[in-house]
Amino acid sequence: MDLPVAEWKSYLLQKWSLLPKSIQATVSTAETLSDVFLHSSSLLQPEDEVFLKRLSKGYFVGKDSGAPLFYREEGNEKFQEKDYTVAAVLYSKTEFRSCYPGWNAMARSRFTATSASWVQGVSHSRPNTEDMSLCYANRSAALFHLGQYETCLKDIIRAQTHGYPERLQPKIMLRKAECLVALGRLQEARQTISDLERSFTASPTLADFPSQSVQRNLRHLKMKVQEKEDLTETFPAALAKTLEGVDLREENKQLSNASSSVSLCMDPVKGRYLVATREILPGEPLVKEDAFVSVLNPGELPPLHHSLGSKWNTRVTNADLYCHRCLRHTLATVPCDGCSYAKYCSQECLQQAWGLYHRTECPLGGLLLTLGVFCHIALRLTLLVGFEDVSKIRKLCDEVSNKDICLPESSSWVKTRNSGLGEIEKNGKIVEIPIPGCDVNGKYESNYQAVFSLLPHTENHSPEHKFLCALCVSALCRQLEAASFQAVTTGANSSQLKAAAAPELCPDVTVWGVAMLRHMLQLQCNAQAITTIQHTGCKEGIVTGSRQVRLATGIFPVVSLLNHSCSPNTSVSFISTVATIRASQRIGKGQEIVHCYDLSPGPHKSRMGVAERQQKLRSQYFFDCTCPACHSEGHGMAARPRWEAFCCSSCRAPMQGDDVLSCGRRGCAESVRRDHLASRLQDLRQQVGMAQKLLSDGELEPAIQQLSGCQRDAESFLSAEHAVLGEIEDGLAQACAALGDWQKSATHLQNSLRVVEARHGPSSVEMGHELFKLAQIFFNGFAVPEALSTIQKAEEVLSLHCGPWDDEIQELKKMKSCLLDLTPTPVGPSV
Ligand SMILES: [Zn+2]
Ligand SMILES: [Zn+2]
Ligand SMILES: [Zn+2]
Ligand SMILES: [Zn+2]
Repeated sequence: MDLPVAEWKSYLLQKWSLLPKSIQATVSTAETLSDVFLHSSSLLQPEDEVFLKRLSKGYFVGKDSGAPLFYREEGNEKFQEKDYTVAAVLYSKTEFRSCYPGWNAMARSRFTATSASWVQGVSHSRPNTEDMSLCYANRSAALFHLGQYETCLKDIIRAQTHGYPERLQPKIMLRKAECLVALGRLQEARQTISDLERSFTASPTLADFPSQSVQRNLRHLKMKVQEKEDLTETFPAALAKTLEGVDLREENKQLSNASSSVSLCMDPVKGRYLVATREILPGEPLVKEDAFVSVLNPGELPPLHHSLGSKWNTRVTNADLYCHRCLRHTLATVPCDGCSYAKYCSQECLQQAWGLYHRTECPLGGLLLTLGVFCHIALRLTLLVGFEDVSKIRKLCDEVSNKDICLPESSSWVKTRNSGLGEIEKNGKIVEIPIPGCDVNGKYESNYQAVFSLLPHTENHSPEHKFLCALCVSALCRQLEAASFQAVTTGANSSQLKAAAAPELCPDVTVWGVAMLRHMLQLQCNAQAITTIQHTGCKEGIVTGSRQVRLATGIFPVVSLLNHSCSPNTSVSFISTVATIRASQRIGKGQEIVHCYDLSPGPHKSRMGVAERQQKLRSQYFFDCTCPACHSEGHGMAARPRWEAFCCSSCRAPMQGDDVLSCGRRGCAESVRRDHLASRLQDLRQQVGMAQKLLSDGELEPAIQQLSGCQRDAESFLSAEHAVLGEIEDGLAQACAALGDWQKSATHLQNSLRVVEARHGPSSVEMGHELFKLAQIFFNGFAVPEALSTIQKAEEVLSLHCGPWDDEIQELKKMKSCLLDLTPTPVGPSV
């Protein structure tokens, strides 16, 4: 996903292996990135480009006139099955056209220029407007069932403006009134109801409408409005989820987007790092930074296909559920007019993305999917800096290649005195200079200069990796050249970028290519995964599972200053593209602020053993971790974690030893080889996997049976806090919840919680998610006191990591107020 697709990757690696040794040597020994780029790109042959084009065409991202009908029928089918989420997404795939005036012509002119080679059969035949209005209306119905009333209203308006048939009007007007009632907008609801009543008397075309049921629904709605108006209580204004919700204690003057509780330092060993300038309490926000650049992860790409029959797929991926610009979750996406890939939450996001980068990226959709997310980010970064600003990029390139006096590897660094400024020894004298990425006054900001200063680790990447990245970038550059920047930069500056037709890259494009190559190499160590918690429910929106999913990959220049630890003292959470780093524990003055490099599963001490972590950190990030956790585990000072421990099959005491394990209880002679237990564990894992498959297929009774078998087996040789036992209990809890047996579900979930607590700690974010699930189970089982106390605990733990605007916390607050309404409040003495 980050790197190019397997076919292109292996093609390039084979190409590399067939190169004469002397040519390999020129790439391997090239001293600067621009040499690497120039040597490699001269090796990109026309037949390589042909091969790449063929691959790219497999990712069909063009428009197709047959698609709307196909997706609408699929959507209708899902709607009948009451799978409203998937139905809404499928309706969205029917390629609604944008209504932004003047935009179509613009997009079309852009396409005619480039479609010949890259965009397969872009069709501009539009579905007739009635068809389109029906699609919007259908989607509004799905959204209504999902309780997304605001979005539903928007789709109703869209349906009406696209010529929704007169005879069906009552249907959507009723839906509109229902939404308004649900949202507490009672006056508008009354207005809609009376409009509807008027249209009945006025329009004879509505005569054939099954008016009886409409009349009944109308009466019912009017009653609802009346009831709501009678409620003396006013509805709490919807809590706006503003980004301003998180506030840093005090803005840092040397370091943008950071609180004044931290300061930027540097030393020869650690490079740049952050330390606490005062005592920091758990939950305190330390950094709040919007991604300088981010690209949505496409999710698992379907296998490459070239035949017409299979190009429409009804799978729902992240690319269908999240805005491609701001990453907000949405079921009612607004698709790009030019491609079927980019989708946005709103017209505003669509226009912004178009203006900033998408007008260049749009015709390259298939190519960018083939080249991978890192290459895509590299391109987008340079687009954000601006075509006209090649000189800026060149200046930065020159500074870096001119010599690396500023690089942290330089041993002349002595120390940092003021935040942002460091001292070096030069000709025997101590000179104060800014830390790399800082401006002359030592201020570090979240800007392109800071992005550029992130280390590409050129010397650590293997020659074939550099070759692979360089060829991806040069293929992209050639395509950009071929497309000519005419339509992209509509201004005076375009002339300087208009590439020559000669096979050699024009100098400006080379500057770009070198910058993109640098970014691609930087990303391996500096990419930040933007994650979200995705919930899976059993029925009626009850959450029984949650997992962290990677939504996008981004660059955050300030977050990148934090060093890694396998036992970090901070947590990171995301709202839209904004990352917030919070202290997850007390941090003393002068202590370093560290986080876990979290390309999930992150090298965290509760997720993997020391050997695996160290290996991962060395191969991906090029360093040997010396964090306290690695130090104690590496020296055998830490006991084997309980979540991996075996127990005695006859007396359940913990087993001890390495290759041969023996029972730890005196008087028990039980002993067994570790590899025997390991293979039993492997079999068990397979059985649990089968049970989880049954569960996800909705085969509840067989799943419970299978899980109970696994549980008996697990208890005979695994410690009570073993991770696999936790998974089994969690599965049982899910199955019971799906059957509506809340009490049993809660018991199983509490067992699973004990395992999570042993593994991740009582105030870990993992514990927070589990407590959230438990609160929902108690809530649904009307176990009021248990639910209230669990909600309280969950809120405490989650707000520490995710802050007050987290989705789960908002949900907990709603549950709490609902429960408090249920419980009779003691009546005080009347005065
Ligand atoms: Zn958006
Ligand atoms: Zn597009
Ligand atoms: Zn470590
Ligand atoms: Zn024993």
